[in-house]
Amino acid sequence: MLKRQTKDFINIDPLQTGGRLTEEAKEALLEWGDGYSVCDFCTGRLDEIRNPPVYDFVHKDLPEFLGCDIARITTGAREGMFAVMNALAKKDTWIVMDGNAHYSSYVSAERAKLNVAEVPNTGYPEYLIKAEKFAEVIEETKKKGEVVLAMITYPDGNYGNLPDVKKIAEICESQDLPLLVNGAYAVGRMPLKLKEIGADFIVGSGHKSMASSGPIGVLGMKKEWEEIVLKRSSKHKNKEIELLGCTARGASLMTLMASFPAVKKRVEKWDEEVKKAREFASKMEELGIIQLGEKPHNHDLMFFEAKILYEISKKAKDGRFFLYKELKKRRIHGIKAGLTKHFKLSTYGLKQEEVDYVLQAFKEIIEAYAKT
Ligand SMILES: *Cc1c(COP(=O)(O)O)cnc(C)c1O
Repeated sequence: MLKRQTKDFINIDPLQTGGRLTEEAKEALLEWGDGYSVCDFCTGRLDEIRNPPVYDFVHKDLPEFLGCDIARITTGAREGMFAVMNALAKKDTWIVMDGNAHYSSYVSAERAKLNVAEVPNTGYPEYLIKAEKFAEVIEETKKKGEVVLAMITYPDGNYGNLPDVKKIAEICESQDLPLLVNGAYAVGRMPLKLKEIGADFIVGSGHKSMASSGPIGVLGMKKEWEEIVLKRSSKHKNKEIELLGCTARGASLMTLMASFPAVKKRVEKWDEEVKKAREFASKMEELGIIQLGEKPHNHDLMFFEAKILYEISKKAKDGRFFLYKELKKRRIHGIKAGLTKHFKLSTYGLKQEEVDYVLQAFKEIIEAYAKT
């Protein structure tokens, strides 16, 4: 048996807080665990399977949830980004993306052979991506060559900043430039609709923010892009090329579908999550651990600067690993081993007792070392 050390820990790793399975998804995982299990009644393509009801999920539930015309399942947020980029890329063309973008956005662009222009953030301490800067970089990049796509990370995975995506969408529209919203940390956590933003594409990550086992993601778009991004094979007439015919086909999809009703409900409680995160951040600041990024913060992913813990690490017996070890002793996991001065964490889905317990742990750790 492969044992998972951290199974019963309080996990505050931002990667993990939104991907925990619901009870329904746990059942689905066992029920559909056999390889190609969902393909028993396939008539030619994944999203057209009626039993289990993949068709209804992809063609009714998902577009409604994402506020888009057309939706598809992908193998992850990055595969969704890559599909869009690869479909729009032409020789010697450019993509403009925010400087807070995830590595997988950059790598997707490289794989699609796009040149990348980055919109810099405002730097310490907030690291904001400003809409005006976006406009500037688009204009500069147009002098270098054809820009085929813009991308904004909403929120980014480092600071949890939520840029003014509507304004960025307006700028892109005025420049006749399609906009892709990377909602890996938004879709399934907070309410977000493509049509309300006014962008062209949206991607989400099932294993990160939609309580799914994964790897799985979602892709939504405006109808006008269907023929380009979902272009079909010349030989296999119903297979979409950018999706390599069919994507997540098995237990990962069934966990996404099983969790979906709960996910739909939980996004309505987003205000509570933001409130919890803000309270957590302000208590951390009382301990001398400062929240960087957008302030007041609007997301459960938070980035902290802890000079006080860094100072302790210089003298502690375990050096820079002291924090990880102290948290582990208290069954708290999620801050990378070796980090003390800067780290990110997430309070998403934590019960109030758990939030208090984590705060208490930081307090005790600081007090214990202050004495030595
Ligand atoms: C995690 C993350 C991704 C990658 O998501 P996958 O579904 O694993 O491909 C992309 N962008 C951001 C901002 C992320 O945080």
